[in-house]
Amino acid sequence: MKLTLCFLTLSLSLPLLASNVRNFHPNHLFIKVKDGFELPQNLKFDSKKNIFGNLYLVSVKNPSFLEESLKNNPAIEYTQKDFYGEKTSAPKLERLDSASAQMKFNQSLDFMMSSFNDPQASKLWAFGDKSGMSVESAYANLPNVTPMEVIVAVVDTGVDHRHEDLKDVMWVNTAEIPGDKIDNDKNGYVDDVHGINTLVRDAQGKATGDTMGSHWHGTHVAGTIAATQNNGVGIAGVANNVKIMAIRTVPDDADELDSNIVEAFKYAAQNGARVINCSFGKSKNEGGMVVRDVINEISKKGVLVVASAGNDSMGPFSWHDNDKDPKYPASFDSQNLMVIASTTNSGGLSSFSNVGKKSVDIASPGSNIFSTVKDNGYGMASGTSMAAPNASGVAAMVLGYFPHLSPVELKEVLMKSSVKVEEFKSKTASGGRINLKTALEYALTK
Ligand code: CA
Ligand code: CA
Repeated sequence: MKLTLCFLTLSLSLPLLASNVRNFHPNHLFIKVKDGFELPQNLKFDSKKNIFGNLYLVSVKNPSFLEESLKNNPAIEYTQKDFYGEKTSAPKLERLDSASAQMKFNQSLDFMMSSFNDPQASKLWAFGDKSGMSVESAYANLPNVTPMEVIVAVVDTGVDHRHEDLKDVMWVNTAEIPGDKIDNDKNGYVDDVHGINTLVRDAQGKATGDTMGSHWHGTHVAGTIAATQNNGVGIAGVANNVKIMAIRTVPDDADELDSNIVEAFKYAAQNGARVINCSFGKSKNEGGMVVRDVINEISKKGVLVVASAGNDSMGPFSWHDNDKDPKYPASFDSQNLMVIASTTNSGGLSSFSNVGKKSVDIASPGSNIFSTVKDNGYGMASGTSMAAPNASGVAAMVLGYFPHLSPVELKEVLMKSSVKVEEFKSKTASGGRINLKTALEYALTK
């Protein structure tokens, strides 16, 4: 009930923010040049950055003026302003010190958690067979080979890499010497030890390497995917073969900028991530296709992008249908994009979860998800933000055992092997809930 109230407040406050003055970056313009053409020679701008191929981000005093001047230019495929999302607040974290929250967990587990000794693993209802992802039963019978390590980029509010249950699963850029203020590996970023922070930039405008942030959200997402298993503290993440790359790109009020998302995705792909978790989104896209083009581009590097569907529903009476009222990046048509709805521990869809027979691919546990939060803390939260990392964990685990799978094949394995639920058939493309055990079994037969 707490969450419903939270979303109610949100939807009421959004119209007020529609006239948000921070609609787009005042000095940025994306320019995509047609194949076989060059960026026009006579263009005036302060600086330009090549994103990939023929796609550029230029800095200019008046992007509207430049955009207008390029309107009928035969060399230009499109121009696009650099749009912000809309300001929202992340879902509220329901702390476990309340007696009622504790009771909920005491009642919730309908299976024996025997594969994990982590003291709070008993709160991970998503690991069960009945309404979860069969994580417990999958671990009881894993293939007898060591899975490949998979880097999962958490593009979010930042990750507490010092957390007792995350410090051993953080991706470490070993070619970078921490704190020497030098870009040792010459990848364009100084001291990017665990990832980058596109929100805090140095004097040259470069993203910095401080990936902590102050919000709980990204740390919660990271723990769900990969918190250290069987270390005697905290919880267990879904995957045991993951290194978390932290990319801080989502401000605490969720007002993320397209150029920062683009930079985050590009960095993740170039530095070895095979899965990118996107527990963020926005309602308006103003016709912008830059983020979609980048998602398509990194498919060539074997990257699956896992995105939350959004939390705009008031189920069971009114479901927000992304097919009719799109969310971004969730509603892009990229083949290597897998979009996640949220489920509860009674097996149905979470009342807040967006749906979409075409554009929402699969469901995954997202209500009452217990995970890591900053400063060695733990807490419970609900949202498609929490469903996406459960799916990312399963995706990374399957990829670890079957590393030859392309992102499109991996998505197909996960969707086809999902456990079908009647209610989900009209609301998601796969009609099912993601399942680690059946996905591993299905991949074996491919
Ligand atoms: Ca570097
Ligand atoms: Ca643990």
